[in-house]
Amino acid sequence: MGHGTSLSLSMSRLRAAAILLLGLLVVHPAWAQTPQLKPGEGFLTLDGDNKVHGWGDVKTERPLGEMAKLVWLKMAGADWASLDVYWDCRNPACQPPKGHGKVNLKKAFREDCDDAFLYWANWERKDWVEQQGEGITRMQLMTVFGPFVGNRLPKDGPLPEFTPEWMGRSDLLQASPEAFMAWIADPGTHGVLTQAREFLTGFFTVTFDRKKWWFKPGVCSQGTWVLAGNGSSHALLFIPMPETSKDAIERMKAVLGIGAK
Ligand SMILES: [Zn+2]
Repeated sequence: MGHGTSLSLSMSRLRAAAILLLGLLVVHPAWAQTPQLKPGEGFLTLDGDNKVHGWGDVKTERPLGEMAKLVWLKMAGADWASLDVYWDCRNPACQPPKGHGKVNLKKAFREDCDDAFLYWANWERKDWVEQQGEGITRMQLMTVFGPFVGNRLPKDGPLPEFTPEWMGRSDLLQASPEAFMAWIADPGTHGVLTQAREFLTGFFTVTFDRKKWWFKPGVCSQGTWVLAGNGSSHALLFIPMPETSKDAIERMKAVLGIGAK
């Protein structure tokens, strides 16, 4: 009799454990299993408790490329949003054949209009220097961009002009996927993620468990980044190949396990 009791007790414990495990799988369908990565890819997740998990090559430094716009949102995004900035991009190099045309901050971020970001950055630079001087402006710039410029910019010196390399068009701004995710996890980046979500929700989103995912792809000279978020969790993927935005997002969905409809 004693045996039967202990057996049924452990069976009910087992069932409770199975139900708990099933619950976890339902809540975190993407991360309950090891992501299936291709060679050279790096993938990190940031859960609601601010815990980071990484798989694949997350240590190699990569140029930020188009992801540099996220750093610019931290530098000036709130200002630009409140000023309702706009720009008429007629630069064929920015978007063939005739440029992006009229863009506001949301559109410039979504469509990667470097021309607009560069114009706003230099216009802001002039304003900053007039208001507070070069020294303080440089200090603020280094506070925000410090994690990405490494030793490629002297610790002291003049305030640099904002050239395309400040928009990620070279190797000036770099981060390993791991370091980039640490920046994303920093409470100081919360406003950037909120702004990115606001700009991107409704475009390139999927609905899973009524949670909308947003995706921000960004090409760089060594491959393609994709940042994704759903309001509570975030994921960062580096693909060591140039991809179109659409393909990069599809790849992220596949790694997250939300690709199949
Ligand atoms: Zn443009």
